[in-house]
Amino acid sequence: MSEVVSGRNLIGGRWTPALSGAVFTRRNPADRDDLVGEFPDSSAADVAEAVSAVADGAAEWAEAGADRRAEVLRRAADLLEARRAELTVELVREEGKTLAEASVETARTPLNLRFHAGEAHRISGRSYPSDDGGLVYTWREPVGVVGAITPWNFPLNIPSRKIGPALAAGNGVVFKPSPVTPHMAQRLVEALLAAGLPPRAIALVHGGAEAGAAVAADPRVAAVTFTGSTATGRAVHAAVGPSRRAQLEMGGKNPVVVLPDADLDRAARIIVKGAFGLSGQACTGTSRVIAVDPVHDPLLERVVALVERLVVGDGADPGVGMGPLAADFQLGKVLGYVRIGQEEGAELVTGGRRLGGGGRERGLFVSPAVFTGLRPEMRLAREEIFGPVLGFQRAADFEQALSLAADTEYGLASGIVTRDLGRALAFARRSRSGVVKVNQPTTGMAMNVPFGGLKESGTQTYKEQAGPEMMLFHTQEKSVYLSPPD
Ligand code: NAD
Repeated sequence: MSEVVSGRNLIGGRWTPALSGAVFTRRNPADRDDLVGEFPDSSAADVAEAVSAVADGAAEWAEAGADRRAEVLRRAADLLEARRAELTVELVREEGKTLAEASVETARTPLNLRFHAGEAHRISGRSYPSDDGGLVYTWREPVGVVGAITPWNFPLNIPSRKIGPALAAGNGVVFKPSPVTPHMAQRLVEALLAAGLPPRAIALVHGGAEAGAAVAADPRVAAVTFTGSTATGRAVHAAVGPSRRAQLEMGGKNPVVVLPDADLDRAARIIVKGAFGLSGQACTGTSRVIAVDPVHDPLLERVVALVERLVVGDGADPGVGMGPLAADFQLGKVLGYVRIGQEEGAELVTGGRRLGGGGRERGLFVSPAVFTGLRPEMRLAREEIFGPVLGFQRAADFEQALSLAADTEYGLASGIVTRDLGRALAFARRSRSGVVKVNQPTTGMAMNVPFGGLKESGTQTYKEQAGPEMMLFHTQEKSVYLSPPD
């Protein structure tokens, strides 16, 4: 049996339990008998202590030069890389990813930290002409305390994209990870401390909505970087208010349009990867296919054939193609949407059942579901499911496909599969989404490219992931007017 983790908050440089002593537990979603660990269930009082500690402790880090900040981030990256095999296994156990998916994340996380280490040296200002022979210039300084509130579906990668640039800019960080993946959060913070980050420059506060809301509401937190659902993001935005800054990356309902000229085998592979990778639990996951006639039926047939070949099981088994859902609430939600789809009159072509057998009865396994006959007004066509449920919509032509694709409150990612470059460019221009993929799965982003959603998928204040954009969020600009002395 694997180790049971005894998790702690990090506040003021000390690993501590919650003030109330309350804890929550985390279990392996592939085997609910396997207890991953117990973690502090923090309250607003714990968050208040954490913010005080970082507000005091971050000064040393703010004074550290770019060389030192970059060095700490690079060393943390090295440490994570040295432990990559172990971390990959721990990530599979805690979140339920497959080994292949987890190893992509454990490879990407050190790269994010190194990328942002480089940004520490690239923070720069501007200078302006001055009529009196003096100097007018701007310079960028750290904002102070940054609150990072993160989801569970990339528990190393997403926090590293927030904490990396925050620290590179010289800020202190209060990190409130998802209660679904607390162990990975702890591993990331441990690596930063072992790399030489002053222990009071960062606080880790485990817990759920109460702790997250307290981070967002604390006026001493100058900037909140949040990734999660649109409903939570709206609450965070309201709590942060107009005089502090928020960066919100939220949900999606991502369509892929397939045109009649497409290679249908390739289209099917692109769709299945985008829809069922990470068990469909990706913000950019494909959730709708808009098939332009006459390709609907042959494409559906190919997608279903691939989906039915997916081996569903414990991600720790190298032969598995789709792991469990990450949490009980995910299982309830996914099975609930399968029921809703059927009640609304969509046709369930395959999957959508809880799976047992072969030890799977102790885990949160469902068979990947494919629906067809989605109409735009159906909840299945409109609401984010965040699970392995894909719906087909039929379009008569390109124009109708475009309007079906745009008929959603979300605007995170969209895709098109076609050989027609003109149509691909028209789709990219007219799509109302922050990311457009041509002949690629909707999932999978490059680290150095701006990332963020339109409409209800994001605030469009500061894109994530791109170095220079992230440094704008994590620094504030001052304009300095300097005249020569008499
Ligand atoms: P969630 O909104 O339930 O939780 C996100 C984080 O917010 C967690 O740490 C949670 O504890 C915290 N939280 C909950 N209530 C809060 C409150 N009232 N105030 C402050 N914080 C609060 O999301 P989740 O289930 O962890 O993640 C899945 C969602 O995240 C999906 O909607 C998915 O699309 C989205 N997501 C978006 C992106 C992106 O980049 N756009 C990336 C990954 C996931």
